[in-house]
Amino acid sequence: MEIISDIEEMQAFSDGRRRQGQTIALVPTMGFLHAGHSSLMSRARQSGDILVVSIFVNPAQFGPGEDFATYPRNMKNDLSITGEEGVDIVFTPGDKALYPEGYETYVSLTNLPEHLCGTFRPAHFRGVATVVAKLFNIVTPHVAIFGQKDYQQLAVIRRMVRDLNFGIQIIGAPTVRDPDGLAMSSRNNYLTARERPAALSLYRSLMKAAQLVQSGVRDAARVIHAAAELIQSYADTKIDYVSICDPDTLDDVKTIDRPSLMALAVRVGKTRLIDNMILKP
Ligand code: AMP
Repeated sequence: MEIISDIEEMQAFSDGRRRQGQTIALVPTMGFLHAGHSSLMSRARQSGDILVVSIFVNPAQFGPGEDFATYPRNMKNDLSITGEEGVDIVFTPGDKALYPEGYETYVSLTNLPEHLCGTFRPAHFRGVATVVAKLFNIVTPHVAIFGQKDYQQLAVIRRMVRDLNFGIQIIGAPTVRDPDGLAMSSRNNYLTARERPAALSLYRSLMKAAQLVQSGVRDAARVIHAAAELIQSYADTKIDYVSICDPDTLDDVKTIDRPSLMALAVRVGKTRLIDNMILKP
């Protein structure tokens, strides 16, 4: 495994491998790696000859007052995980290299960010799309893997790749959960032992929604109400949104008469958690 921090060195490496006819798979991450990230790496390993994992906490996707400064970082442990996963290159660019003095070009989408997390984090998806576009230009992968846990992010990337003709295959990988159902996330590190039951309310409310739909309930408002009630029954929870929407456009769905995305964001103490599931009537 090789660690590359320099942008030109990364580009030259990828150019060389492409000239030899090898395919490159990329897993973009912000580090503090866990089993969710590892599952993306295993998926990527099957999809390309060369596996590149980028580790970069992207300042452009954090809003004012969000957790950029305190976002958990542990490069030593990350390198041990990428080593175990057979990663070829860990790409770790610096903030100043990706956003040098005078930087002023951003990628923003018109519609998708106007839903779900985008309404609570106004510049978030602009930051995500921008950094991913930059990583695509630097690493020039044939395929890139993203987690369905960040469903809206995956939708934004798929749309950007189509709209800007990146010619990169995007694969969405299933959410990896702790045994109790909590979706793995680097931010789970913020949770205290006391807050953990409340954090589980996200998964429990998704399961409750799935049960209601399975038992024949089709009214989205009723399902949302039941999910919100369950979440609010835990102390220290504050709902940002509970939404049932079209999996492609993210527009609200009133009647669950086709597979629909249930997505939610909940603050547990100071930690903001997200989760989602496709509800199938
Ligand atoms: P992050 O480091 O949180 O920016 O995540 C990097 C990638 O890992 C994104 O594509 C995430 O969607 C994905 N990811 C994060 N948590 C999970 C999880 N629990 N299961 C599957 N993929 C995940």
